[in-house]
Amino acid sequence: MTDASSVEAVNAQASAAYQQILEIVGGVEPRIAEATRQELADQRSSLKLIASENYASLPTLLTMGTWLSDKYAEGTVGHRFYAGCQNIDSVESIAAEHARELFGAEYAYVQPHSGIDANLVAYWAILNKRIESPELERLGAKTVNDLSEADWETLRRTFSEQRVMGMSLDAGGHLTHGFRHNISGKMFHQRSYGTDPESQLIDYDKLRADAKEFKPLILIAGYSAYPRRVNFATMREIADEVGATLFVDMAHFAGLVAGKVFTGDENPVPFADVVGSTTHKSLRGPRGGFVLATKEYSESVDKGCPMVLGGPLSHVMAAKAVAFAEARQQSFQGYARNVADNAKTLAEGLMKRGAKLVTGGTDNHLVLIDTTSFGLTGRQAESALLDSGVVTNRNSVPNDPNGAWYTSGVRIGTPALTSRGFGADEFDKVAELIVDVLTNTTAMTASNGQPGKARYTVAGGVADRTKAAAAELLDANQLYPGLEL
Ligand code: PLP
Repeated sequence: MTDASSVEAVNAQASAAYQQILEIVGGVEPRIAEATRQELADQRSSLKLIASENYASLPTLLTMGTWLSDKYAEGTVGHRFYAGCQNIDSVESIAAEHARELFGAEYAYVQPHSGIDANLVAYWAILNKRIESPELERLGAKTVNDLSEADWETLRRTFSEQRVMGMSLDAGGHLTHGFRHNISGKMFHQRSYGTDPESQLIDYDKLRADAKEFKPLILIAGYSAYPRRVNFATMREIADEVGATLFVDMAHFAGLVAGKVFTGDENPVPFADVVGSTTHKSLRGPRGGFVLATKEYSESVDKGCPMVLGGPLSHVMAAKAVAFAEARQQSFQGYARNVADNAKTLAEGLMKRGAKLVTGGTDNHLVLIDTTSFGLTGRQAESALLDSGVVTNRNSVPNDPNGAWYTSGVRIGTPALTSRGFGADEFDKVAELIVDVLTNTTAMTASNGQPGKARYTVAGGVADRTKAAAAELLDANQLYPGLEL
């Protein structure tokens, strides 16, 4: 990603390639070519405000469509379980080098296929380092294969007796932070930390007191829907006080770390033992994950395969390398600053028009509207906005009265539309459109006569006028300008 004119030139060059590619694909399965074309049309014509989505560059997307996909490469660079991996070794080394340099990390592991995989790799690396290795040493064994059946049984039980502490789902944490329906909640005993009932901000004193009582092996920091920055220096202090490994899940805000919006105590990398992330949210890369670690944890992280991964997706590792290279360019820092500035503009625009926001604002890339201020559940608000061409997702708010399915909030993020070139004027207009839709949406009673959580009606003409206003904004800020399909 360099300046706008060179991006446009690359997109125009890619047009012919994409036309041919879709023709070739259509020759085998026309419905897939059609769905691919239609997805571009849909993404071009709606306001994409899902906080976890973005638009990767065409060089990043193109990198994924190659024969690198066809090669098995289980293992690590220079230590593979398959022959002929020299090119995959290059790809993986380049991607890892970019990740290390971009984030100033001691070690990077770029094989995880997704954020969930990255977190699983991280958890097992920590279990390996903190539990398995010392136990093996104590028992005089080199590997688990040297253990007697009885000792192996004891070791397995020891794994499942470990504790983690992460942010609760309704305060903005992620499923992988110990939620009972995720494997993390089944692997570990979990206690979550929430936010202060008044300010809705993390209460570090309470978190510290809870951690001292619970004594987790892993303290997890990071979030999916918390609209504020985290003080990772304080998280490190707390982890040290209770002997925990500090794991930070920066899946959502990796782009703000890469773009140097989160610096000092807000940059997790110098403070965490292990960091998990996705590549496709604010970082604008391909769909995937990666892990950063201190040297101390690097050997354990490398055991991602065979522990929870099979062969890496080499074509995606290549695309990660391209996206990391893009994020190392100066222009990415401007992009990341715009993402955060636009979120502030959006929050102010929503609040000045009467919307209530969780925590009363934002200082990252997302805002969370408390939809009860419009008399709506998150589900009703999400659906009404979608009918009007505004794509968001419903999300729990702290202590949500409507539970995790209907919810009482809508999460809105700025990374995707910022990639399209939206700035302050556009985001103020987006705020106006959202409030217009929500103010003109009425909850309807359910078929059993109870207050409805799903049914709603949008006043006549509102959806059409919102779509028309959105189309103007979108036309002026083209997605992949120069790409004709
Ligand atoms: N971690 C956090 C904080 C997330 O928000 C997400 C996805 O939403 C993930 C992990 C999982 O990422 P993926 O969907 O790539 O598995």
